[in-house]
Amino acid sequence: MNLLLFGPPGAGKGTQSTFLVEKLDMRHISTGDLFRSAMKNNTELGQKAKQYMDKGQLVPDEIVIGMVEEKLKSLSGQSFILDGFPRTEPQAQALDKLLDQLNLKLDWVVSLSVPDETLISRLTGRRVCKACGAVYHTDSKPTQKEGVCDVCGGEVIQRADDKEEVIKDRLEVYRKNTAPLIDYYQAQNKLLDIDGTGATEAVFERIKEAVTK
Ligand code: AMP
Repeated sequence: MNLLLFGPPGAGKGTQSTFLVEKLDMRHISTGDLFRSAMKNNTELGQKAKQYMDKGQLVPDEIVIGMVEEKLKSLSGQSFILDGFPRTEPQAQALDKLLDQLNLKLDWVVSLSVPDETLISRLTGRRVCKACGAVYHTDSKPTQKEGVCDVCGGEVIQRADDKEEVIKDRLEVYRKNTAPLIDYYQAQNKLLDIDGTGATEAVFERIKEAVTK
């Protein structure tokens, strides 16, 4: 089963992908993570992406599509979860074409619905470990020692694009460019609308039930 996790920034796509990868043995393809890793390694791709990411803007379609193509080609039969891609209609069309070429099929598009106030509080409080990527929240999941990762002892920071002024732009970009894809996938009869509020485990149960029904 191949899935696409869809939703605004802060909807829980990354968290739910982690659950799915662990419990259903799927490959996680997160374009945001791929860009962050390229930035950490200071590659040419990372330097290019940083100019857009730090401002909450979208990285140009051709860069993202090329990167996803490479990942899909390297799957060798494993099921996948797309997280954070597609984010524009040209990306969605390119994905359909790619899946066709590679003889792959998307089974479901899981759309996580979360109210704006919850998104903003999740994003402003989110902290991540620079070394291992573990995710924390200042209120709901603080680190035991401030600024230090419980898992690996790495430095825990706020992502540049989780600053309040950038979050507003990211939500705006989502509404304008990405939310219209809900209709795109509805028209393909692939959309599953899931309530993304509440405990992460409860959201996971809702997803599992919906995709296996
Ligand atoms: P995320 O971790 O999915 O919230 O992505 C973080 C940032 O990476 C976004 O705000 C964009 O700047 C960039 N990004 C990730 N995925 C895409 C995409 N599919 N298209 C364009 N930019 C993207």
